[in-house]
Amino acid sequence: MDPTPNEIDITQINNWMKENWKGSRICPICNNTQWSASESLAELRQFDKGNLVVGGKVYPLLVLICKTCGYTLLFNAIKTGLVKLPENTPPLANTQLKEDKK
Ligand SMILES: [Zn+2]
Repeated sequence: MDPTPNEIDITQINNWMKENWKGSRICPICNNTQWSASESLAELRQFDKGNLVVGGKVYPLLVLICKTCGYTLLFNAIKTGLVKLPENTPPLANTQLKEDKK
């Protein structure tokens, strides 16, 4: 059974935001500070020269939308805890960005 519900848990999102959103909540476009979460998660798909890759990587996203202008923030739904991966799944990001050595 899929452990991820189709509709998102707004209480869980609020708790995650309180814990993790430590920066400014001011919208960079309109200066509003009110955000709403979309009713369902969205997804970002693996790019393959414009082809749809069946079984390709999909990144589940929590969508936060500025209530005034619609500016949109995307958060990885796995990191927020809204999507649970089955056990034995490889780590979220298997491509680590290397730090520049100066
Ligand atoms: Zn805005």
